[in-house]
Amino acid sequence: MRKHIVAGNWKMNNDLAQTQLLITELKRANKTSEAEVMIAPSFTNLWPAFESLRETNIEVIAQNMHFADSGAYTGEVSPGMLKSVGVKTVILGHSERRAYFNETDALLAKKVNAAQQHNMRVIFCVGEALADRKAEQHETVVSNQIKNALFHLSPEDFGQIVLAYEPVWAIGTGETATPEQAQDMHAFIRKTIANRYNQQVANAVSILYGGSVKPTNAKQIFAKPDVDGGLIGGAALDATHFFEIVNAF
Ligand code: 13P
Repeated sequence: MRKHIVAGNWKMNNDLAQTQLLITELKRANKTSEAEVMIAPSFTNLWPAFESLRETNIEVIAQNMHFADSGAYTGEVSPGMLKSVGVKTVILGHSERRAYFNETDALLAKKVNAAQQHNMRVIFCVGEALADRKAEQHETVVSNQIKNALFHLSPEDFGQIVLAYEPVWAIGTGETATPEQAQDMHAFIRKTIANRYNQQVANAVSILYGGSVKPTNAKQIFAKPDVDGGLIGGAALDATHFFEIVNAF
């Protein structure tokens, strides 16, 4: 069976005190599902988060990283730095990184390679803009994002990747893809992977859905056969809502 994962992407929210408060609440939450749970606080809060979640089954992951090991890259954070504070998984290719920080597929391929060299798991985000969907280009856009950044990997290395489908028009807008739209894209992604590698590799990859997932819609989305979890933004900033989503599995 594929791994089920629910990850909270906190984005640029929560200072140290707010992080500690939210983590205290998360530790009190009652987990009834078998899904793996992850949270991605800001860089400055990774270490305190890791320390206070050490004895729990909540993994602390990063929202981004640079591809180089070290050097003159002012303001950047390396894979080794992340690993030194307990981080083993990194989100790469989020649409906000692509849109506001000009992250291209070519740059993301380098980051993916760097993560793998450091034995880090990657949650790789893909997703089309509203104009792409209106022009019925959503499948082309998403398959190109995957091909350009990931299809140079060997089957074994590709097996270490988790994908997250996040339609840009559904992020932070309150507008969710319907469970059918999510299922259609996830099935398309799996077919694209099977064509490049094989059905076994495609069947093994976890594909998360992200974009306005809430306690009220999580169950219907997670019920779809090709949806293996969620990448949660806004609703992850509330411990009760987040665990209602986790427990929707
Ligand atoms: P929202 O859940 O706030 O729409 O954000 C989704 C997202 O971008 C997670 O990475």
